[in-house]
Amino acid sequence: MKVLITGGAGFIGSHLAERLLADGHSVIILDNFHTGSRDNIRHLVPHEDLEVYRHDVTDPYRMEVDWIFNLACPASPIHYQRSPVKTVLTSVTGAINALQLALETKARVLQASTSEIYGNPQVHPQPEGYWGNVNTIGPRSCYDEGKRVAETLMFDFHREHHVDIRLARIFNTYGPRMRCDDGRVVSNFILQALRGEPITIFGDGSQTRSFCYVDDMVEGLIRLMAQDRTTGPLNLGNPDERSIGRIAELIVELTGSTSTIVYRPLPQDDPTRRRPDISRAQQVLDWAPKVTLEAGLPQVIEYFRPLADRHRPADKAPQ
Ligand code: NAD
Ligand code: UDP
Repeated sequence: MKVLITGGAGFIGSHLAERLLADGHSVIILDNFHTGSRDNIRHLVPHEDLEVYRHDVTDPYRMEVDWIFNLACPASPIHYQRSPVKTVLTSVTGAINALQLALETKARVLQASTSEIYGNPQVHPQPEGYWGNVNTIGPRSCYDEGKRVAETLMFDFHREHHVDIRLARIFNTYGPRMRCDDGRVVSNFILQALRGEPITIFGDGSQTRSFCYVDDMVEGLIRLMAQDRTTGPLNLGNPDERSIGRIAELIVELTGSTSTIVYRPLPQDDPTRRRPDISRAQQVLDWAPKVTLEAGLPQVIEYFRPLADRHRPADKAPQ
């Protein structure tokens, strides 16, 4: 297959590109390098089946491809809140441009949606049939509502123009190649622990998340794209739910760190609980995550170890 990955120089996109190249596909990456990095794909650049273009997905583009993975969008709260209007544009116009290309070339298009479309969920765990509980005017809304409109566009292009769509709702994913200044919890805690600096828990640490290792996520995304049974939406994530306080303890344990814990205010609209119901993905894709947090975190710790002295973590909480 000839595969386009928008946002392919980012964290998940670079792992997806690596895996697709290894599977024998040719890959085109479009990225504006807003939160992505050439370092993430430097090792792939010599590959003759890879093309990389600096391009902003809010501007239309044309090419012949079979599959489009539309991943372009900053995913970390501090990054997507830095330019909220651009975040909305990237989600909405980016989805329209990907869908327009799919329409013109008869390509299949997969949209990277998110658990954030469930907002601060009142149903737990979250099944795909749950419509969510989302603030339309808060600091997270640019991301949450942008992604919700992108979902709407996917199904409108599907119903109106018969575009071949796949919709993945990605839950918290972690792994090597997260940015040092990414600001998300796993990278922040690991860098703080490696430096012996205080670990910053926002709120009292009782809020929960369920973390999926990036290799499992890539496997789920490819299986969703490659099958013909469903358009989705499908939740992709690891249902192993942990409190943020417990994540901090685990990272201190695994790094052997002397870091203490400090508490900072909980950002506005920070979801209190999150866990995917993945029964649909298990059934349709015969997929479930394999990598436990205890097995995945050490890989990320080793990735960050040489970087810990050179780069500062994000020292700013989202609003
Ligand atoms: P990331 O920030 O590492 O990657 C996003 C990539 O998109 C970057 O390379 C960035 O430069 C690029 N990009 C951003 N705006 C762009 C634009 N206007 N034009 C072209 N490129 C642009 O984030 P990630 O964690 O790899 O997330 C990838 C996708 O998965 C995103 O769509 C995100 O919303 C979704 N997602 C991720 C998670 C997660 O936990 N990582 C969870 C839910 C959903
Ligand atoms: N968090 C934290 N300390 C940090 C970074 C994040 O306690 O240094 C918390 C954050 O408030 C949230 C959880 O960890 O409750 C996950 O945050 P992240 O930004 O990684 O992902 P998201 O909130 O988008 O799920």
